[in-house]
Amino acid sequence: PESLVSDRFNELSAHERAVRMVENNIRHAGAVLLGPVPEDAGLNNAVGMRPSQIINAVEESGLRGCGGAGFTTGRKWRFAASEKLDRHFVICNADEGEPGTFKDRVLLTERPHLLVEGMTIAARAVGAREGILYLRGEYVYLRELLEGVLEERRRRGLLGKDILGVKGFEFDIRLQLGAGAYICGEEGALISSCEGLPGEPKTRPPFPVSRGYLGYPTVVNNVETFCHAARILDQGAKWFHAMGTEGSHGTKLFSVCGDCLNPGIYELPYGHSVWELLEMVGGTDAAAVQVGGPSGTMIGRDSFHRKLTFDDLATGGAIIIFNGQRNILEIVEYYMSFFVHESCGYCTPCRVGNVFLQKAIQKFQKGLANPEDIDYLKDLSGTIIETSRCGLGMTSPNPILSTLKNFPLVYSAVSKPSKDGIRDTFDIQSA
Ligand code: NAD
Ligand code: SF4
Repeated sequence: PESLVSDRFNELSAHERAVRMVENNIRHAGAVLLGPVPEDAGLNNAVGMRPSQIINAVEESGLRGCGGAGFTTGRKWRFAASEKLDRHFVICNADEGEPGTFKDRVLLTERPHLLVEGMTIAARAVGAREGILYLRGEYVYLRELLEGVLEERRRRGLLGKDILGVKGFEFDIRLQLGAGAYICGEEGALISSCEGLPGEPKTRPPFPVSRGYLGYPTVVNNVETFCHAARILDQGAKWFHAMGTEGSHGTKLFSVCGDCLNPGIYELPYGHSVWELLEMVGGTDAAAVQVGGPSGTMIGRDSFHRKLTFDDLATGGAIIIFNGQRNILEIVEYYMSFFVHESCGYCTPCRVGNVFLQKAIQKFQKGLANPEDIDYLKDLSGTIIETSRCGLGMTSPNPILSTLKNFPLVYSAVSKPSKDGIRDTFDIQSA
């Protein structure tokens, strides 16, 4: 809609404008975040409530983390609030790094007040006085805008001491920039990075809600999750709970890209099928869809009836569409090269195992693999998943495992060498 094309648009570079034009190609059914949003209505309600009432409302709404994992937000806040230490923290994970995911960037650009409102509500709920907005290094161009928003809210009494005139309600936020490492989107690595340490994941438990930033109870939530929390405090838990499905309430932002006519950000209630989304975005020619970025699942046409919910196909938001001319092995090899590059190197199975997986895929690409190599891929993937310390290693074999399951012919057909020993293309349609 026009309203989302702000004055700042004219100040952007040609590249950024092109990106924004795609992002502004937004459809929304019952938009909660992308439709009109009243200013600070949720925070105004929250200051009149006890912390436990705020947590109850968020829990009753059914809100689940929108970064990908879907942990119940109310429960996370309750855990943090129950810790009796004298400092608590609220951290926003704006290190959106999953390839194919760009929905948080739109919220940071178009709904920054809603995000800070959500963080402030979380602070009231768990008793935090300090917050950190951890911004992806590549989003550095948003720094000035976000610093301006924080400054404006301090001036208007929405951050700082005695927020909205409520004695003793104190909360402020500092902005911290990442430096381009994907692993810093993992909450333990993100916290380490905030502490000035190398961005390496921490062993869990303890979870951040009990021992997080500097060893204090810390709520870490995604940008979209905080924005939803603010809307819930405005419109009520029942309103949110009524949208979506039994196990996945409310709406979700999807970043849609790839082979379709209308890529962009779409807000939809949970429960639509992949096919319905493809119809909305002009992508019905798709032969494969990557749901959830490289760490997610690649499905084929026989699974397009499946639902975009936590119980069926969970995603932090990435939907990448491939037509029948795309080379699946090339995509898988690219995803593996991404994980090899982004592994922090702490555990051997992830640091070394992903390199071996990538090399094995290259063997298939060259038509030099044997049928036993399929067992090798499965075994090594299982080892990496079971022995890795964090989500990166636990999900890095997914591109291989999901394509082995959903596109088995891609692997079996290329496990015999072609005449010259090299097969340079293998398209999805013929598989
Ligand atoms: P997770 O399921 O281990 O944890 C999810 C959240 O719940 C965390 O905040 C964790 O602290 C909390 N939690 C889990 N169990 C808990 C417990 N018993 N007590 C208290 N808190 C608990 O998932 P994860 O490893 O943090 O994240 C993996 C997800 O991240 C994947 O779904 C992946 O899709 C997603 N991801 C997103 C991006 C992105 O750019 N948005 C990038 C990479 C990965
Ligand atoms: Fe680092 Fe990979 Fe181990 Fe995670 S699984 S801690 S990214 S080496």
